[in-house]
Amino acid sequence: MDKYGIIGFPLSHSISPQIHNLAFKTLKIDAQYEKFKIDPSDFENAISYIKTRGWKGFNVTIPFKERIIALLDEIDPISAEIGAINTVKVSGNRWIGFNTDYLGFMRPLENDLNNINSALVLGAGGAARAVVYGLLEKSNIKNLIIANRTKSRAEKLLQSLKNTIKVNIDIIDLNDVYKPDIPINLIVNTTSVGMGALKEETPVKILKKFNNSIIYDLIYNPKKSKLLQLAQAQGCKIINGLPMLIYQADESFKIWTDKHFPEMVINNFLS
Ligand code: NDP
Repeated sequence: MDKYGIIGFPLSHSISPQIHNLAFKTLKIDAQYEKFKIDPSDFENAISYIKTRGWKGFNVTIPFKERIIALLDEIDPISAEIGAINTVKVSGNRWIGFNTDYLGFMRPLENDLNNINSALVLGAGGAARAVVYGLLEKSNIKNLIIANRTKSRAEKLLQSLKNTIKVNIDIIDLNDVYKPDIPINLIVNTTSVGMGALKEETPVKILKKFNNSIIYDLIYNPKKSKLLQLAQAQGCKIINGLPMLIYQADESFKIWTDKHFPEMVINNFLS
């Protein structure tokens, strides 16, 4: 039996094992996907242990998407530019890193791309890197604003994506989100504000002028974050992080097995 897994901390809420194991079962692939929680202070030791598990591939989630890079033997060029890895393929004893988050993020937007000229991305962490790369490479946006609590982190993000940037990009403080005077078609929350202990919070308040925007929150637990609740009440189209989660998993699965998820697997989680 082939083995696959996910590393991260915490991992208790991860549904990746359910998603991948259903796909293996449906496609009659003799494989199992397991969780492996790693305490960040024990990362290097835990990685040595993982090398003995015989995994053919694994996912990497918070907080190791950047830290894993130093341990890879090879990295896909796009993923190197994004600077965050969520998928590792084990080939012999070589670890090859990929980012499938940017593809997963873009899939739910495919039908709206013609209407998106300007976007506001809240946050500048690992997920924001994939979001910004996806928007720059796979949409026709002309303007992009990145708003982050820590401005220097947003500047670092732009620095590493400099070869991909062909549009006007502004960096602002999260508190200045009310100031942009261009119409925004898409607002993406990539901050963790809205989940866990911050479940009752929103990263920004929505103004009237955001009425026609699509509001996309990467959070999927809760299914409808406070931000999405407010946006829906104002008539905005809303998208949560569940489709992104399923589609990034689908792209990882393709890297490992050369097969996409059967439709039934996607429907099982998205309908
Ligand atoms: P990171 O830790 O790399 O980044 C967190 C971001 O949130 C930073 O921009 C940080 O700002 C900001 N932030 C955290 N707390 C606050 C706060 N109290 N006020 C304002 N800003 C805050 O995490 P990731 O980028 O990896 O993940 C971010 C979110 O995206 C998580 O909710 C995660 O679950 C979700 N996600 C969803 C995926 C999906 O498939 N749906 C895939 C990947 C992530 P600062 O730089 O100032 O610290």
